[in-house]
Amino acid sequence: MIVQSSPAEVLKAIRAARRAGKTVGCVPTMGVLHAGHVSLVERARTECDFVVGTIFVNPTQFGPNEDFSKYPRTLEADLEMCRHAGADLMFTPQTASMYSGDAQTIVRVTKLATVLEGAHRPGHFDGVSTVVTKLFNITEPDRAYFGQKDYQQQLIIRRMVVDLDQPVEIVTCPIVREADGLAMSSRNRYLSTEERSRAGQISQALRLAQQSAGEPQLLPQEIAGRMVAHLESIAGIELQYAVIADTQTLEPLVDRTGQGVALIAARVGTTRLIDNEVLQFR
Ligand code: AMP
Repeated sequence: MIVQSSPAEVLKAIRAARRAGKTVGCVPTMGVLHAGHVSLVERARTECDFVVGTIFVNPTQFGPNEDFSKYPRTLEADLEMCRHAGADLMFTPQTASMYSGDAQTIVRVTKLATVLEGAHRPGHFDGVSTVVTKLFNITEPDRAYFGQKDYQQQLIIRRMVVDLDQPVEIVTCPIVREADGLAMSSRNRYLSTEERSRAGQISQALRLAQQSAGEPQLLPQEIAGRMVAHLESIAGIELQYAVIADTQTLEPLVDRTGQGVALIAARVGTTRLIDNEVLQFR
């Protein structure tokens, strides 16, 4: 496995792989890797000849009061996990080689990026869509792998590649969870023991929504109400939203004829967690 921090060298290595007839899969991450990230690398390994992972804590997707400076960094362990999962190349750029001081260009997805996470984290998705575009330009992948864990993010990236004719197929991979259901996240390591056990209630609320979706008389709004009631009954969980949205537009789902996704964001202590589940209305 090659480890390379220079964008120009990465592009050179990937073009060499392409000339050798290989298909390229890209897995963008911010490091502090866990089994969720590994599942993306493994999926890319099964579908592409040349797998490039990227590890970059992208400053432009953090708000001024967010955890950029304290975001954990575990590069050596990350590289070992990717080597084990079969990555061919790891791109580990420094901030200065991704953003020159006089950079003036952002990529902005509009409507989809204004709701839910976009409303709670102004500017976040501008940072995401800009850095992902840059990573696509540097790695020229045939396919790029994202987790359903960040449901809105993968939807925005899908919109962006269509709108900008970026020749990349977006693959969304299932959420990998801990034994109690908590979605794996680099931020879970911020949780104290007590917070960690409380955090399991977020996926419990999603399970409640899924069970409720099986009750034919319940409207999406009523199902969302059950999630809200469940989470608001637990001391130490500060709910930001718990909604049922259309899987494609993220607008509130009004009836059971559409496809719905239950989406939750909540603070447990100072740690902000998100999770989601696509609902099966029967
Ligand atoms: P991050 O390093 O948090 O930016 O995540 C990098 C990629 O891994 C994103 O596409 C995430 O959606 C994905 N990811 C993060 N956590 C999980 C998880 N628990 N299961 C599946 N994919 C995940």
